[in-house]
Amino acid sequence: MQKSTLYTMIATAAFALNAAGAVPEHFQPRAKELLADSIELEENAYDLNVVYFVGNDMEPTADYERRLSELLLYLQQYYGKEMARNGYGKHSFGLQLKENGNVNIILIRGKLAHKDYKYGTGHGPCLQEVNAWFDAHPGSRRSKHTFIIMPTWQDEGYNDKNPGGVPFYGYGRDCFALDYTDFDIKHLGQPTKEGKLLTKWYGGFAHELGHGMNLPHNNGTISMNKELGTPLMGSGNYTFGLRPTYLTPASCAILSHTQIFVTPEKAESVEAQYGPYYTQEKEPTIHSASFKQEGDELVLRIKVGREVAGINAYLQDPPYAVNQDYEAVAFTCKPLGKYKDGKQVAFFNMPLNELGGLNHLKGGEMELGILIQTKEGTRFRWKIPFDLSKQPVGSEIPLGKPVLHKGY
Ligand code: ZN
Repeated sequence: MQKSTLYTMIATAAFALNAAGAVPEHFQPRAKELLADSIELEENAYDLNVVYFVGNDMEPTADYERRLSELLLYLQQYYGKEMARNGYGKHSFGLQLKENGNVNIILIRGKLAHKDYKYGTGHGPCLQEVNAWFDAHPGSRRSKHTFIIMPTWQDEGYNDKNPGGVPFYGYGRDCFALDYTDFDIKHLGQPTKEGKLLTKWYGGFAHELGHGMNLPHNNGTISMNKELGTPLMGSGNYTFGLRPTYLTPASCAILSHTQIFVTPEKAESVEAQYGPYYTQEKEPTIHSASFKQEGDELVLRIKVGREVAGINAYLQDPPYAVNQDYEAVAFTCKPLGKYKDGKQVAFFNMPLNELGGLNHLKGGEMELGILIQTKEGTRFRWKIPFDLSKQPVGSEIPLGKPVLHKGY
C-alpha cells in the first residue's frame, strides 16, 4: 500500500507539469521551442536515477542542471513518441522533477581524482561509490536503472571542444555519458561545429541510455530504414538530431516491459504476480520451436509459457562478439497468440529481401538470436547458428535443445 501511495504522489507531480503544458520558465528559448509539441506521457511507477559524478579534483560543467534537464526531457519525449508510433502507447522512462521543472540530478563527488574514473575501467570504482551513496540514501533510489554523467577531462588529450576520457557505455542497467560546455540542446540539428559535436555526444547519450534500459544493438529491415532512417540502437548515435533516427519495434517491445517505462497499475500487478523487476532466475519454458525457409522468408514459430511477455528474433552475421552486432536485423511478435491453457505462441515471418546488411545469406554460418523477455522484465537469449546454403528450402533448420542465457 505504501508503495502505491508513493507512486501516486510522484505521478501527480509529473502530471501537473505535463498537463499545464508548462515548459519551465528558465529553460532557454530553443528548448522551449523543441518541447512545445510535447505529448502527455503516461504516468511512471519508477524513475531513472540521474547522477552527475565528479572526481575530487573536478567541478561540474557550468549550468549542467538546466542543460541536462532540457536534453533529458527532450529525450524522454523522443522515446515516448517512438513508443506511441510503434503502437505501445505514450510510455517513456520516468524522470523525477524538481519544483522548478529541472530534472532531479543527484550530484555525487567521488573520493578519487577524476583520472581514476577513466574510460574502460572507471565505471567500477564509480559504481561502487554511486551504489554506496544510494545505500546511504535509499529513498533517493527511484529504480534499478541509473544514468551517470561525468564532465569531460581537461588535459592535453581532451577538452570541451574534444570531450572524452570518462566512461561512455552501457553497463547492465547502469549507463555512462559525458558533459561539456557546449552540450546544449540549442545546437541540435545545427550545421555548425557545435551541432555536429552535439549529435555525436547527444546521439551517444541517447544510445547508451537505451543500453541502460535493457536494449541490445539492432538494425531495422530495409523498408523500415528507407522510411524511418537509422535505428538509434544501430548506428543512430551518429545521426540523432541531424537525420531521421528511430526506435525499432523490437526495441519498443523490450522497453514496454522495462521497469522505468511501466505505469503504477502495471507495476503493481506484475510485481504481485511475478515478483520484483529483474528477479526471475529460472529460464522461461519453451514448449516447442520451429525454424525454416519457406519461399522467400525465414519462418520462426515458438511456443512458450505464460510467464513470457514478449519475444524478439535477431538475424546476424559473424562475428557475434560485443559491439559486433549493430547489423543484427530485429523482429518482434506483437501480440503473442494465446492458447486456452495459458501457453503462448509467437510467429515471425522474416523476408530474405529485407535483411539488408547481412552478407551470409548466400552461404556461411549466421546466427538466429531469440530474445525472450519475462513479465518482470528479465531477458534471456537463445543463440542458434545456422547455414542457409546447407538447408533445403522448406526443411526444418535444426535448433537443438534451447540454451538460454540471462542478459541481452
Ligand atoms: Zn551500443
